[in-house]
Formats: sequence, structure tokens, C-alpha cells
Amino acid sequence: MWRSWKRAEADVKEGRIVKLTTPDGSISIYLYVASERGRHNDHVINGKHCDCESFLFNHVLKEGEPCVHIKAFLKATEGENYVKLVLSKTELKEILTEIYVYGKSLKLRKLLSS
Ligand SMILES: [Zn+2]
Repeated sequence: MWRSWKRAEADVKEGRIVKLTTPDGSISIYLYVASERGRHNDHVINGKHCDCESFLFNHVLKEGEPCVHIKAFLKATEGENYVKLVLSKTELKEILTEIYVYGKSLKLRKLLSS
């Protein structure tokens, strides 16, 4: 348990929790941005649900702890310690499409590094 919270804290420090909103605030979603080298994908998250394997198989099916993505989300939102990006609906759609097709969004990484 200790280890995964440590990891979640490190993820927050590395700015892996990103909040995307549209200019009028009508859409607002949180993403977990995976590290470039790791085998993990980007995930769309909130405090209650994640679409990753660990969440579904360990948390939902075995009633274990939530995944590291949710833990990072909880840590980040506790202190508003996340990256905020305001994007058009079109840009947001491009990012989500990349995540669902490739597992990671290159566009999001470009925006975060610029
Ligand atoms: Zn997860």
C-alpha cells in the first residue's frame, strides 16, 4: 500500500494529472499522462473510476485498492496540484481519439512541453 501511494505522489510531482477544460467550462475532464518509456497508457480518470486493467481486475473484481492513477488523481485534487489546460472542443477530441487509438496522446505531450 505504502509503495503505490509513494508512486502516486511522485506522479503528481511530475505533473501527470492534467485537467482539460473547454473555454466556456462546459467540458472538464482529468487525464493521467503516462511516462514516455513505461508500458502504461494515458487514462481518463475521476475519483471513482479508471479504465485501466488494475482498476478493473484488482479493485472491482477482487475488491483491492484502487489503481495508482486514481490515487494520483486523489493526491492531485486534494491540493489542486494538477496541470490545467484550456483547449477547444476540437483539440480535446483529438487528444481523446489519440488515447483510444494509440494508448497515448502525442498532441497532449506537445502541448505540455510547449
Ligand atoms: Zn487506473
